[in-house]
Amino acid sequence: MNRFAVFGSPIAHSLSPIIHQAFGKQCGISLSYEKILTPSGQLKAELKQFRANGGMGANITVPLKQEAYALCDNLIARAIEAKAVNTLYWQDDKLWGDNTDGEGLKRDLIQNLSLRLQDKRILILGAGGATLGILGPLLEEHPQAIVIVNRTLKKAKALCDRSFLISAHSYESLNTSNLAPFDIIINATSCSVHNMLPPLAARWIQGAFVMDLAYMKNQKTPFQQWATVNGATQSHDGLGMLVEQAAIGFALWHHKTPDTQDVLRKLRQGAL
Ligand code: NDP
Repeated sequence: MNRFAVFGSPIAHSLSPIIHQAFGKQCGISLSYEKILTPSGQLKAELKQFRANGGMGANITVPLKQEAYALCDNLIARAIEAKAVNTLYWQDDKLWGDNTDGEGLKRDLIQNLSLRLQDKRILILGAGGATLGILGPLLEEHPQAIVIVNRTLKKAKALCDRSFLISAHSYESLNTSNLAPFDIIINATSCSVHNMLPPLAARWIQGAFVMDLAYMKNQKTPFQQWATVNGATQSHDGLGMLVEQAAIGFALWHHKTPDTQDVLRKLRQGAL
């Protein structure tokens, strides 16, 4: 049996096993896919054991994406740019790392939700692993500007050298600024997971297309709910991105392209 797994902490909530099993069923591929609880500092040892026991590929989630990046023998260009890895596979016993988060987000925004990113003003909340992965692919679409706001300002500032289109703010400086409104607001903080809201002034939400990268089973995330109340034109969760990034990883591992719409629909209906 082809053996795959997702590593991270916490990991119990991960939908990756359900998604990859559903893709496998669609494509006639029999596979096993486990969740392996792995705290920071333990990934190298866990991956060694996994590989020794027949592991073929893996997904990496919070908080291990940068740790995984450092362990790879070879990296795909977009993972080098992100300095973070969410997809691993072995080739000739060399460990390869990729980052499919940004491409997954783009497919969801552009193909599933019919959004154009060109010339748009984008606000990203958060400067953690998810933001590292999505910045490069978003820049490829030629937005007008990307503003990153983060609780720890220096992490947002460190990302500004990726492009002259990027600028950084603290919540306080953004909320008191007279910057032009944003077309698109992406919540890439982990606040929703902790049932919290980032300290963004509500006035930014009015008229914006909002996406929270977090997702919750059978309900809108706190940020989505708040955005709807405060006048967002649309508010979406990260489930579409999750399914799309998984499909890119699945194609890397199995050389088959799954039908993401079928899996996304079933997940939303609670049929998986
Ligand atoms: P990280 O832990 O790397 O980063 C978390 C970010 O949230 C940091 O910028 C942190 O700020 C910020 N943050 C945490 N708490 C607060 C708070 N109370 N107020 C303001 N900011 C806060 O996580 P990731 O970047 O990996 O993930 C972020 C989110 O994206 C998670 O919800 C995750 O589930 C989701 N995600 C979804 C994916 C999908 O496919 N849908 C893929 C990847 C991630 P600071 O730097 O100051 O600590």
